[in-house]
Amino acid sequence: MVSARFGDRYALRFALGEPLVAGLRDFLEKERIGFSFVSALGGVRRVVLGYWDIEARTYRKRELVEQLELLSLVGDTSRLDGEPHLHLHAIFGRPDYSTVGGHVLEAEASPTLELSLRAEEATVERFHDEETGLDLLRLPDQP
Ligand code: ZN
Repeated sequence: MVSARFGDRYALRFALGEPLVAGLRDFLEKERIGFSFVSALGGVRRVVLGYWDIEARTYRKRELVEQLELLSLVGDTSRLDGEPHLHLHAIFGRPDYSTVGGHVLEAEASPTLELSLRAEEATVERFHDEETGLDLLRLPDQP
């Protein structure tokens, strides 16, 4: 993965086979980014999607091993127990122009993946919320 900084924004490019989630996590650690917003497009050859089952309070997971166009990815990055935490959602396109999407748990670039990231000055931590079972953003002015 290669990256360049433009003010408070970064451009990241992932090459064939490079892992998006692990690569982005390493990047956030290296650059000490505590909160950011991301978007991306490109293609993948493998993705693991999650769907939050609100009753079971867990992610249902599905692995897709096929060439997909990454049509649109949006997300944020924060910290959980001091470690980089990614929250990414994406829509992928198939050769027949149908789409599939979900919460992105893993993704492998193919042939390339372009991500833009806007880093914030602040660090935002997540906290475990018993009511939803989710790790929610603890925003300033919140107890
Ligand atoms: Zn999600």
